[in-house]
Amino acid sequence: SMKMLKGREGVRVDIIDRLPTPFGLVRSGVAPDHPETKIVVNQFSRVAANPRCSFFGNVTLGSDLSLSELRKTYDVVVLAYGAESDRSFGIPGEDLRGIHSAREFVWWYNGHPDMCNLAPDLTNTDSAVVLGQGNVALDVARILLRCTTELASTDIADYALDALRSSTIRKVYLVGRRGPVQAACTAKELREILGLKNVNVYIKEADLATSPADKEEMRNSRIKRRVYELLSKAATVHQENNDNDRKELHFVFFRKPTKFLPSEDGSTVGAMELEKTLLKDDGATGKQVAVGTGEFEELKCGIVLKSIGYKSLPIEGLSFDKYRGVVPNLRGRVLSSESETATVEPGLYVVGWLKRGPTGIVATNLHCAEETVDSILEDDRKGLFTDPSGPKRQGRRGLLEILEQKNARYVPFDGWEKIDTKEKADGELKNKPREKITRWNELLEAAREG
Ligand code: NAP
Repeated sequence: SMKMLKGREGVRVDIIDRLPTPFGLVRSGVAPDHPETKIVVNQFSRVAANPRCSFFGNVTLGSDLSLSELRKTYDVVVLAYGAESDRSFGIPGEDLRGIHSAREFVWWYNGHPDMCNLAPDLTNTDSAVVLGQGNVALDVARILLRCTTELASTDIADYALDALRSSTIRKVYLVGRRGPVQAACTAKELREILGLKNVNVYIKEADLATSPADKEEMRNSRIKRRVYELLSKAATVHQENNDNDRKELHFVFFRKPTKFLPSEDGSTVGAMELEKTLLKDDGATGKQVAVGTGEFEELKCGIVLKSIGYKSLPIEGLSFDKYRGVVPNLRGRVLSSESETATVEPGLYVVGWLKRGPTGIVATNLHCAEETVDSILEDDRKGLFTDPSGPKRQGRRGLLEILEQKNARYVPFDGWEKIDTKEKADGELKNKPREKITRWNELLEAAREG
């Protein structure tokens, strides 16, 4: 939005969000103990304060408003709704109780109104398994392991803090199908979890052996080298402090999930069945892939968090690449299909995870948005949005009409500011930056009050 507002004089930008609150990923995705990552909100708020920019919260694309209605109303529509679903394994037992996607768990501790009732059971077990070794997996593991006294001064949802305070989980297993050289996390995030003061780290020395292909991967990537070095160092640190208060973080490499096994009474998940793997060059891409060895083992646990990647969802009237989980596009210009004969959808653009797939940090998305805005400005210069024969698009006035017709009550930016003020005031009483309002009705109420 900022780039658009700066990029062209007189342009007006309306931001539509299905939640009553803005800032998507920063509010619902970024971990509560990473406040420095949330500072970017100040930049977003400055954009919203621009008189040419408006916010329409609590408006759902697909139900309150269709994509075709939007395209008839605005010259340009930019889809930025990210990835609100999850990759899955498709292996037996995946719907047992006690298995959650990392997204669900993250939304839960971040107070997302769709997950405030998740109520993960953290008291039936001492062991949690996290499947995947990316930065989201590290976030989830860290929240399970970190001292709750440290979490208490973050903006974590109050019910999540309570649940973590009474959690009986002492061991967290981070399971990767490949080795320490291929772990998807980055060095800074890894260093943080390895440094938790109340946690002993366990890594099998044997897993650290590297093949020529591993060495080659490390030569080509500084991050991989750093991650591997950190893991090696952690494996050799003598764990002197063995008092009972300490929790355990186990890195489990070369293990591919093959089955979720039920607990004895069958009521929840009780263990993971894992197959040992070896790495093989897959020939085509030169990537090392995990292949099963036919050797299996069980890992007992009472909760499993699947952290193997997010997935974007299609909406009515939008082309969608089901295999890659993205909207087919050319530098942000939405294409009519994935085929080679696809044409550009006039006035329709995409940014972020919906455009590239679920990887990259906030800064990556800012760059990605720049590319799309450049495409928009270029198309504008070509006069693509001024069709003298077509009807003039109504913009904001048209949107308000549609919302009125459908009886949709939107939350404007000053409604969010009321929520924000209340959250900050409630937070202050508890020495937290904010106490998030986590229920739909309470959010809508707070947005109206004041
Ligand atoms: P990710 O980095 O892509 O990691 C996904 C993990 O799941 C990898 O370990 C991957 O292993 C594994 N995986 C995928 N499919 C699997 C399967 N079928 N079986 C077993 N394992 C499987 O994704 P993410 O952790 O969801 O993070 C998303 C993006 O957000 C990343 O770019 C991340 O860096 C970013 N992020 C950043 C921060 C931060 O900067 N603090 C925090 C959170 C997220 P393989 O490599 O073998 O596929």
